[in-house]
Amino acid sequence: MIRFENVSKQYERNGITTQALNNINLTIDKGDIYGIIGYSGAGKSTLVRLINFLEKPTQGEVIIENQLLNQLSNSELRQVRRKIGMIFQHFNLLESKTVYDNVAIPLILNKKNKQTIKQKVHELLEFVGLSDKANSYPKELSGGQKQRIGIARALANDPTILLCDEATSALDPQTTQAILNIIKQINVKYKITVVLITHEMHVIEQICNKVAVMEKGQIIEHGNVLDVFGHPKHQTTRNFVSSVINDQIPTGVVENLLEIEGKKENIKLFKLEFLGRSASEPVMNSLILQQKVVVNILFAHMSEIEKTVLGSMFVQLKGSETNIEQSVHYLRENGVQVTEIKHWEIN
Ligand code: ADP
Repeated sequence: MIRFENVSKQYERNGITTQALNNINLTIDKGDIYGIIGYSGAGKSTLVRLINFLEKPTQGEVIIENQLLNQLSNSELRQVRRKIGMIFQHFNLLESKTVYDNVAIPLILNKKNKQTIKQKVHELLEFVGLSDKANSYPKELSGGQKQRIGIARALANDPTILLCDEATSALDPQTTQAILNIIKQINVKYKITVVLITHEMHVIEQICNKVAVMEKGQIIEHGNVLDVFGHPKHQTTRNFVSSVINDQIPTGVVENLLEIEGKKENIKLFKLEFLGRSASEPVMNSLILQQKVVVNILFAHMSEIEKTVLGSMFVQLKGSETNIEQSVHYLRENGVQVTEIKHWEIN
């Protein structure tokens, strides 16, 4: 378990003070894949660097597996650090060393014997699928392959925590997916707690179970990914959600709304937001079958987080005032968030 208690961090440089972290309280449980998301400058890297004590807090306490880092001697701190692996955006491999040597370095520093090192490096290269590259140099590898080597190196001393600092930000979408799959596998297979920082919502969406949203050195929201992104409270969180779920009103919907205006029939436009159970198709099916309204789905966007669907849909409901009201009531009873959209809201 990793715990931050009232942690603040200020940097002093050339007489200027920057408040990088401001009173952080956060618990990361064993086995979590905890995502820290925020825009550049939010304080994410500082937070992660406090976990392996590359930076020290100005105030507050960082506790790793019941050890208060502030109180450890240098040699005790080295022991703790050995159990924390880290991967980076730009991989940080030694260009003059072979792949084998890059992975072996932490083991050599940990004074393991040659035979143990050989066995471990081969096992790790096999795990990341690069056994055939042992004698290659980093410059001969693709970005995705370099990150796999970074991962193998991070796992060399059997860490209990893996820190990922924008580990997929320099990679294309397909390679990102492959690396995220490996990180997930590490979490499951080796029961390693993962702390991952990113500015990309889709990274969180794909593998994290918990998330903290950071802004200006503070955690503005945190919790289960689904709770935080299903009911975002802060504008920044909403912005991240809209980067994967389009909740803007699409042009087609706008045109439709303008068309509805001059008509005599009673037609209303609604935005429906689905989360979890309510996202299953039966709700819409039953609405169409049971309620006395004509349902016209204009636009739908669904996304999946932890096997739960999260999404939004724009629908027109046509029918009597009472029937439309009943339909809205039915949807709300089934866990769908319903918002009527009026023409003045779309300019
Ligand atoms: P993020 O990772 O979210 O981009 P950082 O933790 O890197 O955020 O930075 C948070 C704030 O602290 C920024 O304003 C940044 O300029 C400042 N900062 C980070 N590292 C240092 C440092 N070593 N010295 C001075 N200021 C720093």
